[in-house]
Amino acid sequence: MSTTTWLPDLLYVNGRFESDRALVCDDAGKIVEISNRDDGIRLKNRALLPGLINAHSHAFQRIIRGRTEHRSHHTTDSFWTWREQMYAAANSLGPEEIYAASRLAFLEMALTGITAVGEFHYIHHAPDGSTYSDPNLLAREVIRAAHDVGIRIALLRVAYARAGFNAEPNPQQARFIEHSPDTYLKHLEQLLDAPELKDGLAWAGVAPHSVRAVPLDYLKPIVAFANERGLPVHMHVAEQPGEVSACIEEYGRSPVALLDTEGLLSKRFTAVHAIHVTPKAIAAMARAGAIVCACPTTERNLGDGVVPVDAYFDAGVRVALGSDSQIQIDLLEDARELEYHLRLQKTARNVLAPLSDDSSSALARRLFDCATVSGAQSIGFDGGKLEPGAPADFFTVDLDDLSIAGCAVEDLLANIVFSLSRTAVRDVVVAGKQIVSDGLHG
Ligand SMILES: [Zn+2]
Repeated sequence: MSTTTWLPDLLYVNGRFESDRALVCDDAGKIVEISNRDDGIRLKNRALLPGLINAHSHAFQRIIRGRTEHRSHHTTDSFWTWREQMYAAANSLGPEEIYAASRLAFLEMALTGITAVGEFHYIHHAPDGSTYSDPNLLAREVIRAAHDVGIRIALLRVAYARAGFNAEPNPQQARFIEHSPDTYLKHLEQLLDAPELKDGLAWAGVAPHSVRAVPLDYLKPIVAFANERGLPVHMHVAEQPGEVSACIEEYGRSPVALLDTEGLLSKRFTAVHAIHVTPKAIAAMARAGAIVCACPTTERNLGDGVVPVDAYFDAGVRVALGSDSQIQIDLLEDARELEYHLRLQKTARNVLAPLSDDSSSALARRLFDCATVSGAQSIGFDGGKLEPGAPADFFTVDLDDLSIAGCAVEDLLANIVFSLSRTAVRDVVVAGKQIVSDGLHG
């Protein structure tokens, strides 16, 4: 088997940058070894890092960027008023537009060093609510967009049953709804058999939209199916106080308490947002080994609130990151915001720095792990790290870029996490194939 050797100035391995190291990859797209070889593709003035994992995306929402930043109602704007504007956009898109919007979002992701995305996909039907002859037509268009850009995709196929507890149907949600768990699972099984899920670059997961949209008797069988098949499970949880109070009204329990007492939390479960939670809920998440996916650039944009990442970390809960609404696609900005939101809230610094590690890069390492290793675990992928046997997915940054130029090697990761301009990303490789060269795609 032939190999390709990459020779950056600095290689991020085992949580630190090392010089004179070579990354050797095979033609099956895996890392073979990290060695001292000196013949290969020279990446001068570049540091090489594992590819970023964007664990929560709604690709089509890229088209409403900049179009909801104005007062839409006489009352106060909120997540809920934004959602109506977003639905109007969602309902205007046919298959070709879904493909084009997704391709644009994925291209922007690739150019920022993202090598895999968890796509929380919920538009299933035609604009009039009828099912396409292929019920996965739109999911497959989204997968095709990721393939054409060259990044990996976990298609997290969304289950959506209703507008909410005791809520009248919302015609704007007609494209999302599959009324029974049997219909949902039949369509999911068809997707699992699709040819584009056979090459390792795409796979599927189960995504009950939220406790608001999926009642318990629907939720249980689809999570059971995911657990049987070993698929990742993603769900919006406690993004808004209104969702929590509606859940308490329906079940007498908060969303996390409901999921916990019904045995639905697990190591494969990712709670997206998980903002409005109690210490008891955080303890339940920790006991189950569940993951939180924070989306701080979107959460600040929507006025959702601040994810209590300090409490999650103290409890030992892993935290992944997502670009969610695509208001900005820059996963390192999401990483630094985990910390910055808490600094503003607590009027303190280095809130998330681990107490057990006083090295100068410990905080940056922890935040970078959210954007890599934890994201990969969340979407059911063995990536986010550079080691033998891992996928050859990585990106490089230009050490001369003005946003990080002049820093010492021991401060490089903190420079990257807190200050990197995304234009410093120069090369992106997925499964051993270079998809971005010198900052250009293709
Ligand atoms: Zn979302």
